[in-house]
Amino acid sequence: MSEATTTIDLGRLSLAHGEGRRLEAPVRLAPLELGGQTYAAIPDAVPARLDLSRHSSGYAFRLRFPLRVEGPCMRCLEAAALEVEVDAREVAQEGTDDEELTSPYVSDDELDLGRWAHDAAILALPTQLLCREDCAGLCPICGESLNDADPENHKHKQASDPRWAKLSELKLEE
Ligand SMILES: [Zn+2]
Ligand SMILES: [Zn+2]
Repeated sequence: MSEATTTIDLGRLSLAHGEGRRLEAPVRLAPLELGGQTYAAIPDAVPARLDLSRHSSGYAFRLRFPLRVEGPCMRCLEAAALEVEVDAREVAQEGTDDEELTSPYVSDDELDLGRWAHDAAILALPTQLLCREDCAGLCPICGESLNDADPENHKHKQASDPRWAKLSELKLEE
């Protein structure tokens, strides 16, 4: 899979101080790692809107795009999908070492939009991706999904495990 690279050459926009610009461009998102699972953005090229403005000392950016991810539910592994609106901001001042005012996505007058969009997407997603909020997950004993099963009917006899049988024997001998 090819790495997503979408960079904006800020110098070539040749914005004057106080000037702003809006760019609309599809940005290809690399697969998103979340809770040890990989989730794909659908479609993987999101329609990104970038607002940038030039100040006397640098740039301010705002990035927005709708995001839909699809992948396995973290509890039951069934297909799950989620939609969020990503809205992220960055500032990049020139000639400062202050980390608050420098952007990790700007260097040498280039904005790494692909990497920023990827990180912003991860920040916008919840830490858990579930098929539904109250997903019951998988049975810890047999691995069957408990979403469709009636919990009253889905029970395992403890005695079917020989270790449990041994334990109850010990109790009887007491
Ligand atoms: Zn689920
Ligand atoms: Zn079970």
